Amino acid sequence: MTDDSQTPRSASGQDPEQIPRGTPRLLGATEIRRLATELQVRPTKTLGQNFVIDGNTIRRIVAAARIDPGETVLEVGPGLGSLTLGLLDAAHRVVAVEIDPKLAERLPRTISEFRPALASHLDVVLADAMRVTELPHEPTSLVANLPYNVAVPVVLHLLEHFPGLQHGLVMVQDEVADRLCAGPGNKTYGIPSLKAAWYGRMRKAGVIGMNVFWPAPKISSGLVSFERHEPPRTTASRSEVFAAIDAAFAQRRKTLRAALAGWAGGADAAERALRAAGVDPQARGERLVIEDFARIAEARNLAGQDHGVEA
Ligand code: SAM
Repeated sequence: MTDDSQTPRSASGQDPEQIPRGTPRLLGATEIRRLATELQVRPTKTLGQNFVIDGNTIRRIVAAARIDPGETVLEVGPGLGSLTLGLLDAAHRVVAVEIDPKLAERLPRTISEFRPALASHLDVVLADAMRVTELPHEPTSLVANLPYNVAVPVVLHLLEHFPGLQHGLVMVQDEVADRLCAGPGNKTYGIPSLKAAWYGRMRKAGVIGMNVFWPAPKISSGLVSFERHEPPRTTASRSEVFAAIDAAFAQRRKTLRAALAGWAGGADAAERALRAAGVDPQARGERLVIEDFARIAEARNLAGQDHGVEA
């Protein structure tokens, strides 16, 4: 459980006097407090429940997401609806996937209260975002304040299963944001960076402080924006390439020749695949880009065929 003894307190920027007249109303500390009390919500760490209580943060996320007015946005974990309201103002449609039945059930009513004219533009799906493979509408972008403990698997799962997702912006723990966006040679570079790079280009789009959430997390959050691109050209499948990445980073201090031995069927086989892929067998995984792993997986498959071994 997170520390829910404190009630949400006004964060900077939600002072109604500072918001220009005509700006659509978003959820602030007062509204979050009212909803949480009504629903008897006790935010849990297990579900990464930290709700945004600051309208300016919502406006910043929505602006950074560069949503086209015709788009269908997928939001994971709408919670009490803070971001959902901002997204409905910017997009044609929002499909919100929430795992917590209490929150999923309340969301349409919150939207009807705050944006009656847009209520029909929202679909709420009660589901685990790590398992969902079908949605009522095909989303073109992903914008979410993600549950922190599952942020990377959720992003990878959604990019795999919803090829229509062309771009997006997600808020995650700041260190996870750095890992997703890192390039080779960086100390935070690793499995999330490489697997994310299979699907698209990830870019750090800012840091968000702790006091805009209730309950306040102990660490800052980072924004990551992404644009989908074509995966590397290779005859190896995505899961074969990902298996090579997993093997290389399971023993990241070892040379690739040693680290990939188990995966390739021996150190010599690993060396042959690496050389065929044009990669130095003495290098470490942290120096390689996704295209290198794609070539390594392909070379191993080809070597397997040459030896009559199933790849
Ligand atoms: N979007 C809201 C906001 O910004 O205030 C809430 C964000 S909160 C960090 C994460 C939300 O994700 C919570 O509502 C939580 O219940 C939900 N959640 C956690 N795990 C989930 C999962 N596997 N699938 C879908 N939703 C999940």
